[in-house]
Amino acid sequence: MKKIGLCIFLLFFAIPVHASPFVGIPELRKIDCSSRSIELNNHIDIADSINNGDIRLNPRDMAKISETLQKFIFAHECGHTKGYFRELSADLYAWQHYGNKHLTREDLKEYCYLLKDDTENGPHGGADRCKQMTNLFNGKK
Ligand SMILES: [Zn+2]
Repeated sequence: MKKIGLCIFLLFFAIPVHASPFVGIPELRKIDCSSRSIELNNHIDIADSINNGDIRLNPRDMAKISETLQKFIFAHECGHTKGYFRELSADLYAWQHYGNKHLTREDLKEYCYLLKDDTENGPHGGADRCKQMTNLFNGKK
């Protein structure tokens, strides 16, 4: 009984509010990086790019966030494959090539939520990325 209670709790509170089905590869190919190969893999953490320039996406994780954020994250990985290796640089690339036209304040909030545990670039890595994104977002209007 306790387990069922926990499951119900997780179902309603742990899954982000803006979940959308995975947008799908054809939709992502319209954005950018259309020549890069895209691999779907349910065993990685949401998305990454690997050395040879391939982009890997976790469709199950992607389906937990909004469609625009899925596309933004794809654009971020795309930035990595184009040589923007640092996280802040890839975020900036994604902003310039997709985010500035499509990202909403809700998406930004959700992105910052995803970044909260990101320590890839030091203990404040995620916070720094959220701050940069917020500044970009506020500068657009
Ligand atoms: Zn990255």
